[in-house]
Amino acid sequence: MPKIRFQALEQSRRREHTTISESGKRSELFGKNVFNEEKMLQFLTREAFDNVKSAIFQGNKIDRKIADQVAEGMKAWALSMGATHYTHWFQPLTGATAEKHDAFFDILPNGRAMEKFGGAQLVQQEPDASSFPSGGIRNTFEARGYTAWDPTSPAFIYKTTLCIPTIFVAYTGEALDNKAPLLRALHAIDQAATGVAQYFDKNVRKVHATLGWEQEYFLIDKALVKSRIDLSTTGRTLVGSFSAKGQQLDDHYFGVIPPRVLSFMSDLEKECTQLGIPVKTRHNEVAPNQFELAPVFEEANLSVDHNLLLMDVMEEIADRHNFSVLFHEKPFAGINGSGKHNNWSLATDTGVNLLSPGTTPMKNLQFLTFFVNTIKAVDTYEELLRASIASASNDHRLGANEAPPPIISIFIGKQLNDVLDELEGVSKGKLSPEEKTELKLNVVGKIPEILLDNTDRNRTSPFAFTGNKFEMRGVGSKMNCAKPMTILNTIVAKQLTDFKKEVDALIDKKKLKKDEAVFNVLREYIKTCKRIRFEGDGYGMEWQEEARRRKLSINKNTPEALQVITSKESVALFKEMDVMNEVELTAHQDVELGAYIFHIQIEGRVLGEMVYSHIIPAAVKYQNLLLENINGLREVYGAAHKKVAEAQLNILEQIGEHIIEIKKLTDEMTDARKRANSMSMRNKKAQAYCNNVKPYFDSIREQSDALEKLIADEFWPFTKYREMLFSK
Ligand code: ADP
Ligand code: MG
Repeated sequence: MPKIRFQALEQSRRREHTTISESGKRSELFGKNVFNEEKMLQFLTREAFDNVKSAIFQGNKIDRKIADQVAEGMKAWALSMGATHYTHWFQPLTGATAEKHDAFFDILPNGRAMEKFGGAQLVQQEPDASSFPSGGIRNTFEARGYTAWDPTSPAFIYKTTLCIPTIFVAYTGEALDNKAPLLRALHAIDQAATGVAQYFDKNVRKVHATLGWEQEYFLIDKALVKSRIDLSTTGRTLVGSFSAKGQQLDDHYFGVIPPRVLSFMSDLEKECTQLGIPVKTRHNEVAPNQFELAPVFEEANLSVDHNLLLMDVMEEIADRHNFSVLFHEKPFAGINGSGKHNNWSLATDTGVNLLSPGTTPMKNLQFLTFFVNTIKAVDTYEELLRASIASASNDHRLGANEAPPPIISIFIGKQLNDVLDELEGVSKGKLSPEEKTELKLNVVGKIPEILLDNTDRNRTSPFAFTGNKFEMRGVGSKMNCAKPMTILNTIVAKQLTDFKKEVDALIDKKKLKKDEAVFNVLREYIKTCKRIRFEGDGYGMEWQEEARRRKLSINKNTPEALQVITSKESVALFKEMDVMNEVELTAHQDVELGAYIFHIQIEGRVLGEMVYSHIIPAAVKYQNLLLENINGLREVYGAAHKKVAEAQLNILEQIGEHIIEIKKLTDEMTDARKRANSMSMRNKKAQAYCNNVKPYFDSIREQSDALEKLIADEFWPFTKYREMLFSK
């Protein structure tokens, strides 16, 4: 067996799991490393505390004097916790997080050392950001991007560094990150939803979007991952014959968690708890060595930060346990990939979930209002929502018969469909008292009861209503949730703004009562956005045809899906909602296209190297062994005695054919790459990579997998699927 594979297997076999220490109350550890309200009260002046609180809840600005006070308190707390450095923690468009650590330590003009950190350092920094993607917003020669403090997400200490969540913007104010647009979208939804929520309760002052993500991932022994250049450089296996045992038996799902994994999870959860990430559930997933982790939901901005932080922490703790955590959406062909469901809702400062039916008809009308408006928003902007989850790696998942299809539709369940159907039949204009009573008591009034037993779930739907929230299921496992959350909140904000205008007009001009006006507008919406509701099987071919008839967009790959971001309608939408201007949209699209190209390019290069430097040499080596054997047999039995070496000759021949074929395909793929590289337009280049380069990956893989089956195990250069997926 090639040395690298042998050593990796030996190493992984020898690993023992560390003992599990699940002792200690989680609640006592919760938020220990976070500069939360409790610490703020302790370390800040009353004035500074009040200012930070009003920045969080009213979005007020914090002036320099106050910032100095906050910095002073934050520093005192951080030093008391043993922190030595601080960093602005931000989310460049790469999709990951970035940080640049500075020591608190500084030298004064008189040569004495002291711990320095003031308002200036807290509020704004100018990292040398010239290497981050900016989509052309910032030319590298004027690398002026700066990070600015986001007081709505609390600072935290990770290891010995105080991390301050920040936005990252160009000198000219344009967003160079995923957080700045998200914050603007959350502001837009707050304004729009508060206006509508006040129809039902005058006391509502603020509405915030809530997000509860469910993170799926694979955990594979570190040495095994390292032994494969595809997995360690691209995050997925580019070749690999499927193992005899896969997930057919469904014996992994919700099964007993292996001890070594449990020990990792236990450490992870402890760290998360200290960082204030409210992790709650953990279980095995469908595929072998696949797991899921989910927290209690939180305000969307904080929840996004927590998911990004979690992914960083996971990598680090996995490493300590000699695991590699794979966030790629499709690390292994033939078994399920990983996603990150985004559960989303809207909550008021009065403690009400606006997507949760209440106990009175009026509360249910509020529920219906937000429910129908969300459906309408998704109907109007389905293509944008699809674009928000587009990436090279997620392309392997969307539509691959395990995750939702790339067509956005909404599942609400039979009972709610019936309610919407009944509402559709309500007469236009003023309602008779009888009609009103009937509606309120028998339609709207019955909603909470029907939801209780509305347990049927459709796992194939990309956007499903699950009792008191919508669940967006197409989000990729390694994605920054800020992207889909920015789009979703923007489109619902726009929809609620339009809704309010229409209702107000009916009240003012047609003199309708508020509830009548609401019913009237909702009824129109229900009528006009029917095409987005789909209860059937999203995996079937029939749905694709039906979706086409319904004129829903079907964008099967990332370059196609990204086009809509800069359409006239999108530009107008984002401008009206004050979320992104045209320059930013173009830049974000450009960065996404660039990322797509790089991904496919790297995969192509790695695959080429695997074929030429590993697969063909292994095949040739085995051919030589066969030749030696054939020649030996012929010497003993005589060349005329054909039958003796017949099987070996046949294998030799098959290998020969696959070598010819794999070489031919690899050369063609390399040529296609060269042609794609010569294109200067991002769009064209991404399409060329998608349509002319990528298709070779599968056919090369087929050849490689056939060779893997033919060649002696001891010669195969890559750790096999069964070795990676069933090691405990
Ligand atoms: P599953 O989809 O695996 O069956 P659930 O439907 O119970 O699981 O979803 C659980 C997730 O939904 C959790 O991450 C939880 O935080 C989130 N969630 C529950 N209520 C809300 C809400 N009001 N807003 C946002 N997320 C929520
Ligand atoms: Mg879910």
